Amino acid sequence: MYIASEQRYENMKYNRAGRSGLKLPAISLGWWYNFGGLDVFENGRAIARRAFDLGVTHFDLANNYGPPPGSAEETFGKLLKQDFAPYRDELVISTKAGYDMWPGPYGEWGSRKYLLASLDQSLKRMGLEYVDIFYSHRPDPETPLEETMGALDAAVRQGKALYAGVSNYSPEQTRQAAKTLRDLGTPCLIHQPRYNMFDRWVEDGLLDVLEQEGIGCIVFSPLAQGQLTDRYLNGIPEGARASKTERVWLTPDTVKENLPKVRNLNEIAERRGQKLSQMALAWVLRKPQVTSVLIGASSVGQLEDNLAALDNLSFSKEELETIEKILEV
Ligand code: NDP
Repeated sequence: MYIASEQRYENMKYNRAGRSGLKLPAISLGWWYNFGGLDVFENGRAIARRAFDLGVTHFDLANNYGPPPGSAEETFGKLLKQDFAPYRDELVISTKAGYDMWPGPYGEWGSRKYLLASLDQSLKRMGLEYVDIFYSHRPDPETPLEETMGALDAAVRQGKALYAGVSNYSPEQTRQAAKTLRDLGTPCLIHQPRYNMFDRWVEDGLLDVLEQEGIGCIVFSPLAQGQLTDRYLNGIPEGARASKTERVWLTPDTVKENLPKVRNLNEIAERRGQKLSQMALAWVLRKPQVTSVLIGASSVGQLEDNLAALDNLSFSKEELETIEKILEV
């Protein structure tokens, strides 16, 4: 039987999501990979337990996480029953709908039909009465924004979600989504964008919008899927994400292309007495708008390494300038 560590709140930092009442851990755990039906259940279980023991109170899921799609939520459902049920009120569980989930015209994008059916399916898989945050996973160019936001508002009013969020929305779409939700009486809690040293699009307007609108920000792929770590310094190890051909989001070519920068960044991290992964997380967290970084981890060791980023979150002006120079090349 799992009994959570009594020290679990001693070292984590909790940041308020925008102008809401909800605080999130500075580092949250993503369930995109490593918790699916093809992964080793006990490994995922060990990562989830260790995370909670270290104060990671937020687990981020989506309907399609696995593979196969839906299986990460099923894993969570099992773990909730076996380990986490006594701690439900200490956990913030999110899920999303937006990407391809089932065949036909109602299995993806942003219609009310899809979002609300998907949320019901997610709740069933996870064995939850409600999720804490329900996201529109991506903007839908064809469905009126009012309909998508109306579905998030309905989910909250039905008691199936406590808060609403959006992911991958542009600055303008975010501003409009925030207004629509506000008019409906359900404020937008949080935005989930990709942000890391190799992908800085949020700096071109999104962070400003989030600050003005009082919306939190939880960043995904802060380690560029493992590139901003020591994982690939000596080639692509077997079992690493870039070695898995079905994971088209990180290819060996991308890894190779970025390697010179990664090596240079690694040297700065060493000078700071940190691992590169830790410096990459601290770098994302340097932005005051960022509530939390959403890491993935395929082992307890990686999780522990990443959480130790919190030991040194500050940068000197010179360090930041050197990082800029490396990234500019
Ligand atoms: P990261 O950038 O943190 O990459 C995680 C991967 O990097 C791990 O699975 C592992 O890969 C490797 N890694 C992590 N820590 C270390 C370490 N200390 N040393 C060496 N390698 C390490 O994040 P993800 O891309 O996994 O995204 C995180 C979460 O963000 C997802 O789980 C999901 O919740 C969310 N997300 C949301 C999206 C959206 O559209 N809203 C899209 C994508 C993600 P390896 O397998 O090689 O060990």
